[in-house]
Amino acid sequence: MTLAVVGASLAGLRAVESARRTGYPGRIVLIGAEEHLPYDRPPLSKAFLSPDGPRAVEPFLPAEELQELGVELLLGTRALSLDPVARLVDTAAGPVSYDTLVIATGATARVLPAAAGISGIHPLRTAEDAAAVRSALDSGARTVVIGAGFIGSEVASAARKRDLPVSIVESLDTPLVRAIGPEVGSVCAELHREAGTDLRLGTDVTGFEAENGAVTGVRLSTGEVLPADLVVTGIGAVPATGWLRDSGIPLHERDGGVICDATLAAAPGVYAAGDVAHVANSLFDGELMRLEHWTNAAEQGAAAARHALDPANAREFSAVPYFWSDWYAHRIQFVGTPRADEVVVTGPGCTALYRRGDRIVGAFTIDRPRDIMKYRKRIAARAPWREAVAFATEMAA
Ligand SMILES: Cc1cc2nc3c(=O)[nH]c(=O)nc-3n(C[C@H](O)[C@H](O)[C@H](O)COP(=O)(O)OP(=O)(O)OC[C@H]3O[C@@H](n4cnc5c(N)ncnc54)[C@H](O)[C@@H]3O)c2cc1C
Repeated sequence: MTLAVVGASLAGLRAVESARRTGYPGRIVLIGAEEHLPYDRPPLSKAFLSPDGPRAVEPFLPAEELQELGVELLLGTRALSLDPVARLVDTAAGPVSYDTLVIATGATARVLPAAAGISGIHPLRTAEDAAAVRSALDSGARTVVIGAGFIGSEVASAARKRDLPVSIVESLDTPLVRAIGPEVGSVCAELHREAGTDLRLGTDVTGFEAENGAVTGVRLSTGEVLPADLVVTGIGAVPATGWLRDSGIPLHERDGGVICDATLAAAPGVYAAGDVAHVANSLFDGELMRLEHWTNAAEQGAAAARHALDPANAREFSAVPYFWSDWYAHRIQFVGTPRADEVVVTGPGCTALYRRGDRIVGAFTIDRPRDIMKYRKRIAARAPWREAVAFATEMAA
C-alpha cells in the first residue's frame, strides 16, 4: 500500500504526520517541487523581513524527524501529470505508483507580465522571494507594493518598521473587499495611513520604469511615476494545478483549483487539501470555499490523509475558516465568511460581526486575540445573531 502526497508544504506535511498518527504502517512518498524541507510561509512576510529576524527559513521538522516518520522524500521534484485510473503520478524523477493520493500543491503567486526581465520586482510566496525582498529592504529600498491584500500590507508594515518610505497601489476604492467586506476594508485602510504608508486606492499600475534592467519606478494610471528600488506584487495566487490539466480531476472553471466533495475527495482514491482545494462547507449553506489560510491547510491536510487511508469512514470536513495577519503593531484576525446580509462594526479597537439571516457567520477583530476564537465557536455552533451581538457588547464593556 502506498500513500503519495504531492506538495511538500504545510498541507502535505500535515497529511503525512496524520497518516502515521492513525497508525498507517505502509509506504508514504512525499513529492515536492521546492528544494527545501517543508517550511512555514507566514513568517516570510513578518519576522523574516525584520532586520533582527531569522536569517534562514526554518523547516517545520528537521530531516531526521521526517525520516523517523518513514517518509520517502522526493524534494526538488515536480509532479508532471496524473493518471488517476492507473493510479500513477509522473514526476521529473520518474513515475510514482500509488494506492491513494493527497494533492497538496497549494498556489503560485500571480505575476505581472510587464515585470518580465526587470530586476527588483518580486512576488512573495517562497523562501527565495522573501530573501530577495529582505535584501532590498536591508539596502534601504524605496518600496512600492502592488495590491493592498494581506501579504502586501505586511510588506508595507515591514518597510515602515524600518522607517523606509513605502506606497501601496490598489486598483479598488477600498482594500480587501472580497476578503472582509467594504466596511472593515475601510478600517484597515486607516491602519496604513496612521503608520505613514502612502496608500493609493482606485489607482492602476500601467507599467514600470527601469535603468540597466533594474526597476526605478512604477507608472500609475494617474500619470504619476512612483520612484522604487523594490516592487512587491501582492496580486493574489492561483492554484498549482497545471500538472492535473489532462487528468480528468474536476478543476474549477474560474481558477483551476481542485473541486472536492465535502470529504475532500476529488476522484476515487484522490483527495485534496489546502490552498489548492475548493470544498463545499456545510456550515455556510454549502458554499464552495477555496481558502488561502494557514489553519485551513493544516486541518484539511490532516483530514485528507485520514480519509484517503480509510474512505469508508471519511467524514464531512466543515471547519470555520480562520486567518490572522500582522500589520504594524496590530494583529488582525478573521473567522467565518464575509458573505453577509449585514456587517456591524463596534469598538473598542475594532470588532466587526457579520450576519446572514438570523445567525452570525463571520467576525473580524483588531487586537482582540482572546475574543476571536470565542466567535469561531459561536459560528460553528450556528449561534443566533442577537446572542453574538450581546457577547460583543459584553466584551466591549
Ligand atoms: C508570505 C505569506 C504569508 C502568509 N501569512 C499568513 C498568515 O499570516 N495567516 C494565514 O492564515 N495564512 C497566511 N499565509 C497562507 C498560508 O501560508 C497558506 O495558506 C499555506 O502555506 C498553504 O499551504 P499548502 O500546503 O496548501 O500550499 P503551499 O504552501 O502553497 O505549498 C504547496 C507546495 O506544493 C509545491 N508544488 C506545487 N506544484 C507542485 C508540483 N507540480 N509538484 C510538486 N510540488 C508542487 C509547491 O512548490 C509548494 O511547496 C501566508 C502565505 C504567504 C505566502
